[in-house]
Amino acid sequence: MIRTDKENYYLDIAETVAERGTCLRRNFGAIIVHNDEIVSTGYNGAPRGRKNCIDMGVCIREKLGIPRGERYEICRSVHAEANAIISAARRDMIGSTLYLVGKDAKTGEYVENASSCSMCKRQIINAGIARVVIRLNKNAFISVAVSDWIEQDESLSGTFGY
Ligand SMILES: [Zn+2]
Ligand SMILES: [Zn+2]
Repeated sequence: MIRTDKENYYLDIAETVAERGTCLRRNFGAIIVHNDEIVSTGYNGAPRGRKNCIDMGVCIREKLGIPRGERYEICRSVHAEANAIISAARRDMIGSTLYLVGKDAKTGEYVENASSCSMCKRQIINAGIARVVIRLNKNAFISVAVSDWIEQDESLSGTFGY
């Protein structure tokens, strides 16, 4: 057996976390790692006590055909990244890495060109997370410096989606 490299090891864990996601459209798993320790985990789901997409049998965004990256006010869920951030102390997130994996709920395929939405980007920036590693497929991933997200301010350019 070939030993998994560290980035894919953490991505594999984030992928397992994504299996707990509750949306009928896409499910994401996120883990925050600092100094080689997992600080917290998160997956997308409705706020505690509220019904999930899977409980209602309908994802409102899916039903209305809303493109990804847009109109998150009508998404029922707290996103994976946000849930991981909520579960961590800020001092543990400064300089940390967030690993993110997204899968299509129907096909089980990896989300193409996955990224964090504009709301999660803001939270990631303020949490002090330094880097986001996103899985493209089983062997490929991209590593984004959060400083790039600070500079590329989509709220100024008016670019929606990703
Ligand atoms: Zn949904
Ligand atoms: Zn998000």
